[in-house]
Amino acid sequence: MMMSVNSGPTRRSGMLFVISSPSGAGKTTLARMVADSQKLVFSVSYTTRAPRPGERDSVDYKFVTDDEFSRMVEGNEFAEWAVVHGNRYGTAVHAVNRALEDGTDYLFDIDWQGGQQIRRQWPTQSVLVFILPPSMAELERRLRRRATDSPDAIARRLAIAKRELEHYGDYDYLVVNDNLDRAHQQLNAIVEAARCSRAWCAHLAEQLLAEASPGGAGATVTPLSAVPHD
Ligand code: ADP
Ligand code: 5GP
Repeated sequence: MMMSVNSGPTRRSGMLFVISSPSGAGKTTLARMVADSQKLVFSVSYTTRAPRPGERDSVDYKFVTDDEFSRMVEGNEFAEWAVVHGNRYGTAVHAVNRALEDGTDYLFDIDWQGGQQIRRQWPTQSVLVFILPPSMAELERRLRRRATDSPDAIARRLAIAKRELEHYGDYDYLVVNDNLDRAHQQLNAIVEAARCSRAWCAHLAEQLLAEASPGGAGATVTPLSAVPHD
């Protein structure tokens, strides 16, 4: 499809990079790694669940009461929210607005229900990645080794892992987290590929077209994908 200079996008929107997985597959570990290596802003969710040992308010989650969460739902303060493992979790709408308005790339560690809501609302700005464990036995080992949940909570998480896995079809990419470094490399590659996609780079071509047109000012386009990482 040909785009005229005046109708094409002139500015790049931010990317909404969603990572989901069954609990224990390593999504939080990987999300932190790729956010760091790719300079993605990690979206800190709101939750009604109690902090685990070592978790910090406003760093891992914003821990709120049920009443506070309900008030935010009523005030339309969430871009998406869902009940997961019996607690409520939600993404603040201002994180998404900031991504879309000033081009900041955000990373969302959210479940499949949240992923679906983001995809439905921002189909062209979202990239959805599902992290798979190498096996169900290894998933169970990781949940037990993490030792942050009670045996009851671990049993509950395993029971719903299958239901979570059934939603892999909603995602653009599947990454197996067997070797952590390899999975991290694959996530880096996905972010870099997305940053080179036509949807995100059309504004660069449009700048060159403007320069090439009679009377166009000189322009040097710089891709935003050049972020150094290991
Ligand atoms: P999730 O956020 O998906 O629930 P976590 O990131 O908390 O999972 O990881 C669950 C546990 O598995 C943690 O103890 C983490 O250190 C460990 N882990 C993550 N990735 C790997 C991997 N590739 N190999 C072995 N252990 C891993
Ligand atoms: P955990 O309690 O282990 O930190 O997270 C439980 C699940 O909730 C994970 O699958 C995590 O991705 C998901 N989650 C965390 N924050 C959000 C959020 O803001 N929205 C949704 N929909 N899910 C979330």
